[in-house]
Amino acid sequence: MPNFTFKTEVNQLLNLITHSLYSHKEVFLRELISNASDAIDKLKYLTVSDDAFKTLKFEPRITVKLDENAKTITVSDNGIGMDEQELADNLGTIARSGTKAFLERLGENDRKNSNLIGQFGVGFYSAFMVADQIEVVSLKAGQSGAHVWKSDGKSGYDIEPGIRAGFGTDVILHLNDEGSEYLSRWSIEELLKRYSNHIAWPIHLISTEKNYAKDPAKSDTKIVDEQVNTATALWRRPKSELTDKDYIDFYKSLTGDEKDPLLWIHTKAEGTIEYTSLLYIPSHVPADLYIPTHEQGIKLYVKRVFITDKELQILPPYFRFVRGVIDSDDLPLNVSREMLQHNRVMMTIQQNTLKKLFSELEQLSTTNAEKYTSFVALFNVQLKEGLLSDWANREPLLKLARFKSTGAEGWTSLADYKARAGESRKSVYYLTGENESRLRASPLLETFAEKGIEVLLGTDEIDELAFSGIGEYEGMQFKNLQQLDAEDELGSAKNEYKEQGEKAIGILKGVLGDRVKDVRLSKRLGKSPSCVVVDKDEPTPAYRKLMERLTNDPIPESKPILEINAGHPLVERLVALDTRKTLSAGDVAITQELEDLANVLFYEAMLAEGERFEVPQDFSERLNRLLAK
Ligand code: ADP
Repeated sequence: MPNFTFKTEVNQLLNLITHSLYSHKEVFLRELISNASDAIDKLKYLTVSDDAFKTLKFEPRITVKLDENAKTITVSDNGIGMDEQELADNLGTIARSGTKAFLERLGENDRKNSNLIGQFGVGFYSAFMVADQIEVVSLKAGQSGAHVWKSDGKSGYDIEPGIRAGFGTDVILHLNDEGSEYLSRWSIEELLKRYSNHIAWPIHLISTEKNYAKDPAKSDTKIVDEQVNTATALWRRPKSELTDKDYIDFYKSLTGDEKDPLLWIHTKAEGTIEYTSLLYIPSHVPADLYIPTHEQGIKLYVKRVFITDKELQILPPYFRFVRGVIDSDDLPLNVSREMLQHNRVMMTIQQNTLKKLFSELEQLSTTNAEKYTSFVALFNVQLKEGLLSDWANREPLLKLARFKSTGAEGWTSLADYKARAGESRKSVYYLTGENESRLRASPLLETFAEKGIEVLLGTDEIDELAFSGIGEYEGMQFKNLQQLDAEDELGSAKNEYKEQGEKAIGILKGVLGDRVKDVRLSKRLGKSPSCVVVDKDEPTPAYRKLMERLTNDPIPESKPILEINAGHPLVERLVALDTRKTLSAGDVAITQELEDLANVLFYEAMLAEGERFEVPQDFSERLNRLLAK
């Protein structure tokens, strides 16, 4: 029995990896190389930032060694290494909350989605897809004793003192049957080129090759040791030298994403502050975008030395889906990570990077509408998050954000809305709800449609906040159709049916009682008999739902205001029924029909806005009774 047992979630993960993800088992190599590269990054950083390591000389290098006889693959690095405690912490638990989220995700979703592995970095444990026994021999830089971590990836692991010639880590995989195909130099070289070509440190592949002679006695073996990657920082190479494939491959090795990026922006900034940035926008919404611990995706380098991808939020949080690198010669190498936030050069780099991102996206919207539409479909919600959180960048964000609209197919910008509305219009009208086709059919839009007044439609949950947060656009006030008094907007209601309308209001108030806040004549209805709205200062249903979800607290229901179309035949009928009721001195059947009709006018209006009501059976019963007449 091993000395230590895995934490439960590790067991869960191992189970999933070995049983569900094995069809993508080759990712193990990418994961181990990426860990080795990180370990070298960490040591390199110490040699420039920490006096205790400044004199340490090392030639960074990763090696992958194949041993056909022993059936092992060993991935070694001369990076930072791990001490006993770190071996236990890093390889016995799942430290990263992202991986935990991955587990949950994988449980409910596509179990074979290896793209998720990359995004969450299942990492080291993926090696158990190809190995039935793994040894990790590690010596932490600056310390004296090495340790060996050993496990069969089932129940737990052992850690014992061991020997290693220098600092760094060897990961020795004792291959299982599925893994033995990787003993061929050809297949490993192909994998390294495919996944790890853009690792910035040299990767050497070492294997033993046989030289066959005619006389078998003279056959011998020789050791082949060759560097298989280019080991250059791709972002530092001139654009003219790089092909699309180079950029795409680099993106994949940087992020682990298997899909091509949607676009990239490669900038060499020259002038008072020099830096290079290479930013990518993914072609899909990253699976962990909405988990609160989602990390930003930009790596900061100084003079090609990796500094951090954690301590510093380089772009504002709403751009957390952007991946890439920023590398500058103008930052001091020994800048402490904590001090970065207050470093003036860094602040300038951040501001300029953000500006560049805005301007490139804006340009894309004019030069490549199709690509921009894909971008909007994926990340419009984040732009709106920006509108709510980053007042300083309101202007560029307003240019980038897009909305659905009654005035156009597809997406509309505020500039387009304004252009179509003309100079005299002082309002941007909007309506929010869960479902676009339901919104388009809402009775609230009827008169606006008749008069050709365009209304923006928000179907993203955030729209409710975004529209009211924007508040104003170039002299136009944002107005929610559900809250506004159409009377103020469209002039007073038609007079010809006023008397009939006033009568109906009295009847409806009597029947509906305190289920409605008010009943009034509508100016906005065309073909529908009724609609519901909320009072100016009351939360709309969409806002209430959003707040309830965010705060987990029920918000007191606000009562709807029922508006009626005074000239509608059903309103006429309601009034006629009331007269008959009076004449018949309260005939039971007539009274019933009157109440049914009043209720149905209310229920239908609620339905059209997607509102649920407590007893739907009451609606169908009343409707059925009316139909049976
Ligand atoms: P991740 O790399 O995504 O954090 P892993 O499971 O691959 O997850 O690795 C867990 C941790 O183990 C790493 O974060 C790192 O601290 C440590 N580690 C793994 N491989 C090495 C290595 N070759 N050298 C030093 N530390 C390593």
